[in-house]
Amino acid sequence: MNDRKQELAERTAEVREALAHAARQAGRAPEDVTLVAVSKLHPASDIRALAETGQTEFGENYVQEALSKQEDLAGLDVNWHFIGGLQTNKAKYVAGKFALVHSVDSSKLAKALHNKAVSLNTVQDILIQVNIAGETQKSGVETERLPELAEEVLGMEGLRLAGLMTMPPFFDDPERARPVFARLRELRDGLETRLGVKLPHLSMGMTGDFVPAVEEGATLVRIGTRIFGARPPRG
Ligand SMILES: *Cc1c(COP(=O)(O)O)cnc(C)c1O
Repeated sequence: MNDRKQELAERTAEVREALAHAARQAGRAPEDVTLVAVSKLHPASDIRALAETGQTEFGENYVQEALSKQEDLAGLDVNWHFIGGLQTNKAKYVAGKFALVHSVDSSKLAKALHNKAVSLNTVQDILIQVNIAGETQKSGVETERLPELAEEVLGMEGLRLAGLMTMPPFFDDPERARPVFARLRELRDGLETRLGVKLPHLSMGMTGDFVPAVEEGATLVRIGTRIFGARPPRG
């Protein structure tokens, strides 16, 4: 194993350990928490190296960068997650190319993904991103509008709604993010009852706040810095 691969393997093993600990702490099974390694702005070679150690889920934020990595790594057996803000006019490049799109936050975007998925004769798995803390963040549907958007998505045969995602504002103390995570779980539970569907996934928790996220029910955690180190600047 080269040095970088060794480093990535060790860091990821530490994260897995911490995730498992947090899960057990909350009486949850460690297998119920999936680690999405957020590789944005890191080279395709890092993804390949980490994939060779058994990591299967990778998260990317930028359409162009993600598609070019997919091309570079064609044949590598991994699942791609689109977790970044997505403009409606780029939805056509994303539908069908990612195992899960975490960041659907408007009916226009949902429709665009649906249209492309239908034209590809496929079904795109998605999460709805919810803006829980308000003000400080721009992405995510407002909680008041969530039921309406969820209902719309459920009517689109090109999409399969698998759950919810949120990204709290940055807090120095991760405990301050806990109420946001708890709220996402409550919103999910409410939708399941109201709409009579199963929404198994809660995508929440990043490098700085994954412990409370797992304790509050995260099934997908999106971790970048803790695995890959600091990101180089974009551009
Ligand atoms: C970059 C990013 C992450 C990973 O953040 P880290 O703090 O590096 O773990 C997770 N989720 C989203 C939506 C991101 O944009």
